[in-house]
Amino acid sequence: MATLADAGLIFSTQTHPMPASAEQRDAVLANPGFGTHFSDHMVTIEWTEGEGWHDAVVGPRQPIALDPAASVLHYAQEIFEGLKAYKQADGSIALFRPEANAARFNQSAQRLAMPELPEALFVEAIERLVKIDSDWIPAGEGASLYLRPFMIATEAFLGVRPAKRYKFIVIASPAGNYFKSGAPAVSIWVSDYTRAAPGGTGAAKCGGNYAASLVPQAEAISRGHDQVVFLDAAEHKWIEELGGMNLYFVFEDGTLLTPALTGTILPGITRDSLLQLAREEGLKVEEGKYSLDQWRDDATSGKLVETFACGTAAVVTPVGKVSDRDGAFTIGSGGPGQLTAKLKNRLVSIQRGEAADSHGWIRKI
Ligand code: PMP
Repeated sequence: MATLADAGLIFSTQTHPMPASAEQRDAVLANPGFGTHFSDHMVTIEWTEGEGWHDAVVGPRQPIALDPAASVLHYAQEIFEGLKAYKQADGSIALFRPEANAARFNQSAQRLAMPELPEALFVEAIERLVKIDSDWIPAGEGASLYLRPFMIATEAFLGVRPAKRYKFIVIASPAGNYFKSGAPAVSIWVSDYTRAAPGGTGAAKCGGNYAASLVPQAEAISRGHDQVVFLDAAEHKWIEELGGMNLYFVFEDGTLLTPALTGTILPGITRDSLLQLAREEGLKVEEGKYSLDQWRDDATSGKLVETFACGTAAVVTPVGKVSDRDGAFTIGSGGPGQLTAKLKNRLVSIQRGEAADSHGWIRKI
């Protein structure tokens, strides 16, 4: 197999001249929260039309200089990914399915008219950052080093067309347990806003999708809910996903249903992993359509017993209550359900290296 060095791409490494002290780092790791603290280093790789990818650097984390005309600042040509490095039961470090993030990153790149990054380069960039900043991985239940690879259009040009220069960057942020104690059930608000229309960018992980979800999410919070759920844009009838998580429905006969990937939903890697794990458990899992009306009726009649949301950040999170302008309904007991807990344990034990990795999902660093 051709290596990156064969392709002329060699990473240069510059260690941080003034990294955080052990005391500063330990203070962060004792209470990392989410997304506010960062490790000492970052990876940057440049892309220029005609030249391709070049200048791969593992260096000190620092501000980046951008021309004020850089097209990302005007037309939001930007994509990103999110994945985690976990401390394993045996003390080693592992990534969970980074190749799947690399593949999704390239699908996003295609949709946003950006250059694709070879999957091996995406994974190597992440591995190098995790290695140099391995002291930044918090230990403990639910803790991890959250990795944020992203690409921005850096060309200084105000015309509306794909840029001719891009920067790929990876930064890392220690993350604690998403929920402080155990996994409470979240309450969700059905938004009147839509997230993604057919033919739009819903299946791509681009910043613009998230900018557009801020008002609906803020509305959910101001109404006393934790998360927003979006319905489809065409009929405003079918359940799609939350602002940053996919959904699963569990029925009394033990079957599972998750909205199908129709192009308006982000193809979650957690969603895909659970699909496989549930099928291996012998459960019947369908990908299909499910309407808000049916959800309400089934929850009320008891046909639907659990609903959970899933994603890298919150892993598997039970949904207890759903509200819209017409009222609210409760799912099951309103608390965490049995199958939700079982599937979560299956997934987390693989991610933590406590259960056999029969799928080749774990990539040790
Ligand atoms: N949907 C959206 C809109 C998301 O942002 C995310 C997080 N990436 C997910 C679903 C879940 O995806 P994953 O399981 O790959 O984290």
